[in-house]
Amino acid sequence: MTAATEPQSMTFEAEVNQLLQLMIHSLYSNQEIFLRELISNASDACDKLRFEALSNGDLQSQQAALRITISSDEEAGTITVSDNGIGMSREEVVANIGTIAKSGTRNFLESLTGDQKTDAQMIGQFGVGFYSAFVVADKVSLRTRRAGDAAADGVHWESDGASGYTLEAIEKSEPGTDVILSIKDDCKEFLSSWKLRSIIKKYSDHITFPIMMMGEAPPAEEGEEQKSAELEQVNAASALWARSKSEVTDDEYKEFYKQVCHDYEDPLAWTHNRVEGTQEYTTLLYLPKKAPFDLYDAQQQRQGVKLFVQRVFIMDEAEKLMPRYLRFVKGIVDSSDLPLNVSREILQDNKIIDTIRAGSVKKILSMLEGIAEKEPEKYAEFWTEFGRCLKEAPGEDFANKEQVAKLYRFESTETGKLGDMVSLDQYISRMKPGQDKIYYITADSFQAASNSPHLEIFRDKSLEVLLMHDRVDEWMMSYLAEYDGKSFVSIAKGELDLDGVGTAKADDDKNEADKPTDEENESLVKRLKESLGDKTSEVRVSKRLTTSPACVVLGEQEMALHMQQLMKQMGQEMPSTKPVLEINPGHPILRLLDKEPDDEKFGNWSELLLDQAMLADGGQLDDGAGFVKRMNEMFLALHEDS
Ligand code: ADP
Ligand code: MG
Repeated sequence: MTAATEPQSMTFEAEVNQLLQLMIHSLYSNQEIFLRELISNASDACDKLRFEALSNGDLQSQQAALRITISSDEEAGTITVSDNGIGMSREEVVANIGTIAKSGTRNFLESLTGDQKTDAQMIGQFGVGFYSAFVVADKVSLRTRRAGDAAADGVHWESDGASGYTLEAIEKSEPGTDVILSIKDDCKEFLSSWKLRSIIKKYSDHITFPIMMMGEAPPAEEGEEQKSAELEQVNAASALWARSKSEVTDDEYKEFYKQVCHDYEDPLAWTHNRVEGTQEYTTLLYLPKKAPFDLYDAQQQRQGVKLFVQRVFIMDEAEKLMPRYLRFVKGIVDSSDLPLNVSREILQDNKIIDTIRAGSVKKILSMLEGIAEKEPEKYAEFWTEFGRCLKEAPGEDFANKEQVAKLYRFESTETGKLGDMVSLDQYISRMKPGQDKIYYITADSFQAASNSPHLEIFRDKSLEVLLMHDRVDEWMMSYLAEYDGKSFVSIAKGELDLDGVGTAKADDDKNEADKPTDEENESLVKRLKESLGDKTSEVRVSKRLTTSPACVVLGEQEMALHMQQLMKQMGQEMPSTKPVLEINPGHPILRLLDKEPDDEKFGNWSELLLDQAMLADGGQLDDGAGFVKRMNEMFLALHEDS
């Protein structure tokens, strides 16, 4: 090792620096959380040692006395947080403390708004806990030794939080880590033992390892020698989830959440359950208020549920405990039936885990149902943050499809307002006489959905249509064939049969005479078909339109045009769709077209008709320039006519 004697100086990555500055400023009003963060790290380190000891006999003797010790020295102006947990090797110190190891942190920095209040709230989510030490300290030293390494393999890391840090090899008699903070002049209040105790009680009471502090020395009796003070346990050290619900206050639930799930904000809701019977397990599951920035990042496989076995921490992000569409759920699962040395591989195909997962999913779904019913505003908050995740459910969780669909909310033509959502149950409750289907349309924006020509006949008959404009909607609907026995129908696809469904507004009798006859329609359709050739798969008289001249209709199995567009942009090969062109023969434009004797002009106009219908449906034209050219010709033709 090169730096066995000389301290080695290292500079921070630029991002670390940026992060430190931000942290110091933004945590100004909440400085005390540095202790929570350091205790949480110490506790994680003890958890890791305990877990490693399961498979490494050499470490077994150490795990019995795992604990965290906190002391302050008012004279020296230091606070020390020590643990006898797993410790770190030199490489680990460099990787974990000196660099931005976690991929999320970089993204986090990019996502900052510059508004310190908002940014400060985000800090808690990103596991940047260790650096919070610099909020109160102008120098931080870390002395550590990896459990299992020799005493001579200790490492001393030190930094002023400005430019970089030094590393030095040291002797350390015990494995574990000491973090020594040189407290800033304006933070001296934290040196008070009373203050430290109250912070520990507030944030870290449930930490399962004892947190020890030096007690008061008992007053010396006459003639006796002064007894020295002794270490005493400050925290309750009982796993919060192991207590019964009635004994836990809301504040305790919230604090536990912030500590264990690394969130800065209170949770939106939680559900705490003990299951007894053939299998025994406890779950404490939380809904966060805000979605993490990478929730919809396909690469992101993180999960928020930690697995414990008989109160011993086993693993983070236990992805088998929750389906992917509930990846935002955080909290803990504690099983009494799994072996302590359970590995991720074992979890892959495990009956116990399957049962726990099924039970947890039910709990989450019924909690959501309860919120939706009793606290619609809170539910709306949830839906805005996590609704898109739930929409992944039909493709992933067949068994709970119906129950999840109950939680869906969509905009609809009923209010026609963005943000004004309806549930499927509401939709069904006001279906019109003769209606047995749930009508919807997908588009790439709310505007596009609500202006679609496909809605005309539905508006006319006062039939409600769900306006879906999330990217996942089209995909979701391909898995969600029906709800409550009613099938879903995309109003932009396939033949539409609304005979006997709803009641149309009274027909405008005065136009009845002008309406083209069936024969006239037939000949127009035939002429259009010939003229458009293979640009469409069919031309037919529309049952959908009341005011637009024409629209395109896709096959029932075809992907919506805006989605096809998206897939093409992402480099996917898409067979080019030949839509059906539906016309509204009574429309003045079609009346004019029908009268056009010149075949070439007719051809141009009919292409224009098809192109504008494609555009209205969210498609893109293969030949935009041709469209513009024909459009301009038409303007000129108007001029000629006048
Ligand atoms: P997080 O705890 O979210 O991982 P931190 O910034 O708090 O982020 O800590 C960074 C990393 O430094 C930890 O993941 C851990 O690997 C290491 N670390 C911090 N404190 C300790 C400690 N007391 N013992 C062992 N490792 C630690
Ligand atoms: Mg931490």
